[in-house]
Amino acid sequence: MSKNAIITGSTSGIGLGIARKFAEAGYNICFNGLEDNGAEIAEKVGEEFGVTTMFSAANMLKPDDINEMVKIAEGAFGSIDVLINNAGVQYVAPIDEFPAAKWDLIIGVNMSAAFHTSKAVWPGMKARKFGRIINITSAHGLRASEFKSAYVTSKHGVTGLTKVLGLEGAPHGITCNAICPGYVKTPLVEGQIKDQAKSHNMTEEEVVTKVMLKKQAIKDFVKVEDLGALALFLASESAQMMTGASIPVEGGWSAQ
Ligand code: NAD
Repeated sequence: MSKNAIITGSTSGIGLGIARKFAEAGYNICFNGLEDNGAEIAEKVGEEFGVTTMFSAANMLKPDDINEMVKIAEGAFGSIDVLINNAGVQYVAPIDEFPAAKWDLIIGVNMSAAFHTSKAVWPGMKARKFGRIINITSAHGLRASEFKSAYVTSKHGVTGLTKVLGLEGAPHGITCNAICPGYVKTPLVEGQIKDQAKSHNMTEEEVVTKVMLKKQAIKDFVKVEDLGALALFLASESAQMMTGASIPVEGGWSAQ
């Protein structure tokens, strides 16, 4: 029987890469994101891999949108077996210049949304005694960097949520784990390179070599496909004894 997944922020970057891996493995997928061509992306992936896809433009800042997305996807697919909380935003500035509105946005999309989505899929997963919640956090869910107060806080928050849901899900066949990537070259990071160049007063090339990859022992960007492969493993039966864990995929950053 085929399985069904909701992947937030899956019409760009890491989420799209993970969605493609899951579609290749036969999962039906509810795509989500703010990209205008989201429905088209979902349709194309469905056609390419011969699975059922749908698209929800639910804004992760709005709990009502989130509940509606889960209700519609559950209704269409019959169950949600896997939830991947991936939608995320970033803003880089020193604390004294950090706009309060950006703080609220980042905490809302990166952290609070994971609570609302997990809460919404929980009753179905509990009833079926199977569920996999996978949070895409970051190396910044384990370590800090300057100028990223909201992002680091939001990702550390989800590291905590991952542990709690791991514990609460244990009696019900629900696992919850986080993947903590180092730098992945996606639209989010392209934007960050520009912002960091301003904050550090450096060229964009200097930001990549001297700031971004400085803390990674392996001086390369993480590949989206590799994150998809790990997410697929976490969704599998073989990962049934893994829960509450935050797994670094960051070229040895947190080994230091
Ligand atoms: P991206 O900008 O390419 O994609 C982000 C996705 O989130 C987009 O589809 C966007 O539409 C969606 N999104 C943003 N705000 C939303 C909202 N309010 N409602 C619904 N969807 C919304 O970014 P990415 O690099 O692919 O990042 C994906 C996740 O991976 C994020 O949580 C990010 O923090 C995390 N991450 C990225 C990196 C990296 O280097 N790129 C590293 C570690 C962790």
